[in-house]
Amino acid sequence: MDTAITADELPLNNSFAELPPAFYTRLMPTPLPSPYFIAASASAAALVGLDPATLAQEDFVAVFTGNKVAVRSQPLSAVYSGHQFGVWAGQLGDGRAITIGDLPTAGGSMELQLKGAGRTPYSRMGDGRAVLRSSIREFLCSEAMAALGIPTTRALVVTGSNQPVVRETVESAAVVTRMAPSFIRFGSFEHWYYRDKPDELRLLADTVIARFYPELAGAANPYKELLAEVTRRTARMIAHWQAVGFMHGVMNTDNMSILGLTLDYGPFGFMEAFDANHICNHTDQGGRYSYANQVPVGHWNCYALGNALLPLIGAPEEAEEALDVYRPAFGAKLDELLHAKLGLKESREGDGALFDAMFGLLQANHADFTLFFRRLGELKLDDPGQDAPLRDLFIDREAFDAWAATYRERLRAEGSQDGPRREAMHRVNPKYVLRNYLAQVAIEQAQNGNYEGVHKLLAVLERPFDEQPENAAYAALPPDWAAHLEVSCSS
Ligand code: AMP
Ligand code: MG
Repeated sequence: MDTAITADELPLNNSFAELPPAFYTRLMPTPLPSPYFIAASASAAALVGLDPATLAQEDFVAVFTGNKVAVRSQPLSAVYSGHQFGVWAGQLGDGRAITIGDLPTAGGSMELQLKGAGRTPYSRMGDGRAVLRSSIREFLCSEAMAALGIPTTRALVVTGSNQPVVRETVESAAVVTRMAPSFIRFGSFEHWYYRDKPDELRLLADTVIARFYPELAGAANPYKELLAEVTRRTARMIAHWQAVGFMHGVMNTDNMSILGLTLDYGPFGFMEAFDANHICNHTDQGGRYSYANQVPVGHWNCYALGNALLPLIGAPEEAEEALDVYRPAFGAKLDELLHAKLGLKESREGDGALFDAMFGLLQANHADFTLFFRRLGELKLDDPGQDAPLRDLFIDREAFDAWAATYRERLRAEGSQDGPRREAMHRVNPKYVLRNYLAQVAIEQAQNGNYEGVHKLLAVLERPFDEQPENAAYAALPPDWAAHLEVSCSS
């Protein structure tokens, strides 16, 4: 694409608009006063053939804030429903997200969606806005997850305005432009199932198959295969989350992507002091979406999708068969990821027990999840005397020594060598993740009009596996004040 294009020359299409009007509402974004550029992702821009520098230009800032509608844009908000915290919530929909169209890429089109661009018919009691704080969090985390190799929606650019937005306190407005091949959710299917509209349900499924799963179209029961494939992708995505210590925070069925992408970044968190029962979302008092519960909840959500697809699939046994892929797909992916995290090239009997013992040790000592795996990569097979930086993460040093002895034995059994193992482990165990306190520091600066912290943090998180010695401070344990940080559904 020409790098010098104007916003009006964006080759926008809107494939979602090919669905009948019942699936969405066409509408215009609501402008914000005096919008300004905050940050852009160069790698997300490259995906859609845009020069990131142009995103800071006035006409692009206007388009990506919703103040100007590009010539070829057909803005719309989609309707969907969903289960929130396990309870049927009825109709929801894009309450503050407006799709402006999609852009072609080498690997298919990317839908561009403005989050926080004003009220829509699905806003219910909401104001249609997103605050700077949550927009920066979504922007940074989307791009951090992509750099970690985890399936996710992307974030192109974030813009802001001094317009006040009331949450627990008065904050200011921002808009994130996010991108994905599609933002269709499990709840998009539940919507038509619960409304008893089998024709719309079928049309949606056929559209998703034709556009994103064309290889399933010729199957004997394509809807069953769709359920199986979405279940498989969801299970693998959650295995990635568990392996990197990511907690989504609000795994409602309206936040589950039909493409198996991490979607709707809100009160997410990265595991620090390990606790399998950690709840990152302050609003989630029952811990439905705790770290450990993400695995069964992912399965539960696939069941909700299966239930919605049942009229198309036919026999419940067929749907159950499709859903049965969840556990093996999750188990196989997590097993693969854990072997890589521990630098194990082979799979051997007893590896499961080694992993269980490791998680037991992390749990008992509340060791920092990211630092543990990163430092584990530095382990010298024949020199426990050099274990100190790793060993110091544990209160019970003897328990660590005992586990490390078993681990060393296991490494020896496959003839592991320090150099290559270190290199392989550092390629999968990030040094840098978006710790809440890092986001908080960047947000507070941004709230004072200084966006350098956001730019710098993005640059660090874009290369999470690189040593970046000059940025070692970004790999540090959270400071004491961070213990009081709380993130909630308020965004
Ligand atoms: P979430 O928990 O962010 O996934 O949001 C759940 C539902 O509430 C979705 O339908 C959102 O579009 C809607 N929503 C959240 N915040 C707002 C807001 N400030 N204004 C309008 N709708 C909102
Ligand atoms: Mg949502």
